[in-house]
Amino acid sequence: MPVPLIERANRFLSRRAIVAPEGTLTYRELVEQSQRVATNLLHDTNDLNDARIIFLVPAGRDYIVSQWGIWQAGATAVPLSLTETTREITYKVEDTSPAALIAHPDYMETLLPLAEEKGIPLHRTTDLLKGDLGPLPEIDPSRNAMILYTSGTTSDPKGVVTTHSNIESQITTLVQAWEWAPDDHILDHLPLHHVHGIINAMACALWVGATCELLPRFDAQNVWNRIADLDLTLYMAVPTVYKALIAAWDEASQADQERWTAGCKAMRLMVSGSDALPVDTFERWEKVSGHRLLERYGMTEIGMALSNPLDGDRIPGQVGTPLPGVDVELIRLDLKKFEETGRRQYGGKVTNRDPGELIVKGPSVFKEYWMKPDMTADVFDTKGWFYTGDIASVTDEGTYRIWGRASQDLIISGGENVSALEVQRELLKHPDIDACAVVGVEDRFWGRAVSAAIVTVKNSKLDRNSLREWAKERLAPYKVPQNVLILDDLPRNAMGKVLKPQIRTLFDGIES
Ligand code: AMP
Repeated sequence: MPVPLIERANRFLSRRAIVAPEGTLTYRELVEQSQRVATNLLHDTNDLNDARIIFLVPAGRDYIVSQWGIWQAGATAVPLSLTETTREITYKVEDTSPAALIAHPDYMETLLPLAEEKGIPLHRTTDLLKGDLGPLPEIDPSRNAMILYTSGTTSDPKGVVTTHSNIESQITTLVQAWEWAPDDHILDHLPLHHVHGIINAMACALWVGATCELLPRFDAQNVWNRIADLDLTLYMAVPTVYKALIAAWDEASQADQERWTAGCKAMRLMVSGSDALPVDTFERWEKVSGHRLLERYGMTEIGMALSNPLDGDRIPGQVGTPLPGVDVELIRLDLKKFEETGRRQYGGKVTNRDPGELIVKGPSVFKEYWMKPDMTADVFDTKGWFYTGDIASVTDEGTYRIWGRASQDLIISGGENVSALEVQRELLKHPDIDACAVVGVEDRFWGRAVSAAIVTVKNSKLDRNSLREWAKERLAPYKVPQNVLILDDLPRNAMGKVLKPQIRTLFDGIES
């Protein structure tokens, strides 16, 4: 059996699959080149039997050819982020014990010392494209396909193993919900070591015979100019990217603004995810682009689970309803006990509007954390429900609202439950606040004090007291930040997500 995604490519052979700065690839070229990569990786064996292959390749033709080549050789693809440090790469190499490493010519130097030290074969992408095609193994969809590392905002990165059939489900639910079609053309500059860029944007496009245009990195001017060409139909990004695009639009000439806005209006769908979309970004983007952003919720372990509708009202601050084939429930979690002991104690299903931990079940849910059976056992119950660690609630209309990670965004202050995401959303409405992160900081009086690290706009005079006065008009007293720190920047990971454990340490020793 061939890999489902690759098998489908045979239906679209003459269509354009990939557009990249170095050139395009038709589906025929993609299939042939990736088969050549697979043949070279197999060398004189029949099947790599799920061996891990780590690859460090920028977004472009070589990335997808390597990924499909690894799959067709029967191996598990482990993509690295281009910005990873030697320490982070070493961690992944030691964690996955790869049979081989692949690097784009520009990144050979990064992997060479490690390959030599560990005695692991290192291939240059260009070398794998040489030679004849050989026989390729049958790949059962239940076999391992990919290991993606969790962003590690709360703990050490864990390798999330998905099978080919998990990936197929993660793709098909989005193809159905967002009505992907062969004439779609998406611009994808999302990092390709993360589910957002790999599955939501690239794999969905390739599933239906559409075109995925890859940009190795985000640059607001480049993106706007591509949008202005009027030939894109879909765009996906994280909230910080939409913010950067709005900032560039604000600075642009009126003629550029009109061209850029026209490019947005020519598209059929613009999606935001991977982090909470601030309401003011949603509203500003609507003015700039004419689009009400479709916000969805998902994670590396499950692909996407909840989405605002393609047709129908998209509500800012909410992430919609379960996607096709994804079962979702909320389970009552004793948050107080969790905070005190770090141990989860669950009650029954939440049947009202209270917050609870979001649990997910379905064929798109991952198989396991790589070589971490205890951690895997911790997040699945006996009926196969995956406990996401995110707190959510459901509205009267049946749409979901994400409160944040139980471990870092749920703050019990003076006995009240506070969602850090809700406070952040409100604070971001302040005209002087450019970015903010809210955390709970240990406090003798409150238990946890709601604490905000903020980045202000240039020349702002905002201070703790004036911010608190402003916030009191908009938030219940227990949600108003007790502590306020003004920073030049917030620490973020490669996806642009704020690293809250680092933020929390900045409040050490601060008394409210
Ligand atoms: P990752 O596995 O890196 O994609 O991170 C997944 C986590 O990002 C989830 O568990 C959520 O905490 C968060 N997340 C993803 N999408 C959203 C969203 N639309 N709103 C709020 N949080 C989100």
